[in-house]
Amino acid sequence: MLPSDKQAFRQILASSKSIIILSGAGLSAASGIPTYRDPNDSDALWSKNDAMAYATPQAFQKDPSSVWQFYHRRRALCLNAKPNDAHRALATLSLPAVLSRVAPCASSPPLHVAQNIDALSLRVLEPFSSQDKATAEKCLLEMHGSIFVTRCTSCQHIQRTYTPALSSTLRNIEDINTKHDIPIKELPRCGGDAWAGSNRYGNCGGLLRPEVVWFNEVPPLMGEIARKMNWCDLLLVVGTSSTVYPAAGFASQVKARGGKVAMFNAGRAKGDEEADFLFLGNCEATLPDILDVKTDIANMWPQA
Ligand SMILES: [Zn+2]
Repeated sequence: MLPSDKQAFRQILASSKSIIILSGAGLSAASGIPTYRDPNDSDALWSKNDAMAYATPQAFQKDPSSVWQFYHRRRALCLNAKPNDAHRALATLSLPAVLSRVAPCASSPPLHVAQNIDALSLRVLEPFSSQDKATAEKCLLEMHGSIFVTRCTSCQHIQRTYTPALSSTLRNIEDINTKHDIPIKELPRCGGDAWAGSNRYGNCGGLLRPEVVWFNEVPPLMGEIARKMNWCDLLLVVGTSSTVYPAAGFASQVKARGGKVAMFNAGRAKGDEEADFLFLGNCEATLPDILDVKTDIANMWPQA
């Protein structure tokens, strides 16, 4: 029998002090964001093989122009996407009124460790009051960075911006599905297009890179996340398998210390019977129901 008892899960949720959410690609699937490994993402030119090829520091060093065009296109894709009910359900858990109802023992809102780089877990917070938004933002760790954050390769300045194009040359590309010859000096740079020779921090003219964790790079927040897992008594694994790295490591860490693991995933995965709770189905359908936040979603996002 599959461990998927809704009432039993809600009891554990209600008695948990430290709840952590680990989300993956399945969270944004209903928003139309293709994943690196999505077999259906079959764009002719920017195929999934390209994604693997471009998401490395070596590729950026060798051919920053192609890497930037790849990310420019993905930024547009993410900006066109809209958060779905799975993002909304998770976001409601950071609202004091909801948290005190569904998880009254929680000492703070759940920490949300997001592997997606699409920022939909941030954009979903739009209707929140500024105070609730600040709380929710503090609870979100973008483990693999964000496609909307850049880092200067010279002065290391970090900036978040939702502008679709980060340089005028990228902005003027008519067909973003075709690769173009763009010289390095016309790629996004520290200080923007108006850079006028200064070498100040945040305005030094250096080449920017997307602040995303590439293959062969270690997520800088890994240590912090692992420390927080030590205190976790309920781990919600959403839209990713709890048996695949890094979720597998976190899940066994939590279980070794007596915590519970609940998995919300579209389909079965090898070894998923190890989870204490397993809720199968698209997470935009299962999460609002299992967490008992359907009404809260309807109240907070009436247009959705
Ligand atoms: Zn700089």
